[in-house]
Amino acid sequence: TPVFYSGITKMRHDVKRASPTRTHRFILSLRDAGKLVRDYTQNIDCLEEKVGLSTDLRKGPGSLSRFCRKYQSRDVRGHHRVDYEPRLQETNRGIECVLLHGSLRRLRCSNCFITCCWDECGREAKTLAGQELPCPGCAEISEARTAAGKRATAIGKLRPDIVLYSKQDPWAGSISVTTPLHLFQRLDILLITGTSLATHRVKHLVKDFAKIIHKQAGKAVL
Ligand SMILES: [Zn+2]
Repeated sequence: TPVFYSGITKMRHDVKRASPTRTHRFILSLRDAGKLVRDYTQNIDCLEEKVGLSTDLRKGPGSLSRFCRKYQSRDVRGHHRVDYEPRLQETNRGIECVLLHGSLRRLRCSNCFITCCWDECGREAKTLAGQELPCPGCAEISEARTAAGKRATAIGKLRPDIVLYSKQDPWAGSISVTTPLHLFQRLDILLITGTSLATHRVKHLVKDFAKIIHKQAGKAVL
């Protein structure tokens, strides 16, 4: 475990310095042209956020108005539109990029699933030294119980907010929020890039999307 914590913290340092690639910018250009229904990624580096795509699941699926031409700042070739109306609120765009395997931005409790900022309270220095940190949320509940004369409860450990293959994914149920049928009925192309589809869950997701797209006479490009 100490090796895991210090290794993943070093990886986080490298990721912070990394720059988005042409693929990230291509996805952004699709967004700006009103052509992006959703981006699903297995990457945990959050480079999608660096180019300006929203990864916040709380924003929901987004409204259909985001595909209206008048709200697009650029056309498909990346040219600025002069008749653009910058009125579309960011919340109407919804979540643009779904982080299927989580990210290295925050830490998550293994017990109560709350997330904590990795950059606060000296947490990063501690994980770099290989320490496993107790969850402050669980600790607070347990302390309040013992102060009231009740028995102490379990205190979870803070882990990187990523999906390890053998562990349960706290986001699993929430992904369906991003796939309402009225949005997916608009799909005409499914682009699959940079994945071996080796992960069981991702393979099934791609198969489900491909089924929808083939029903609509669209194309899946691998
Ligand atoms: Zn907790």
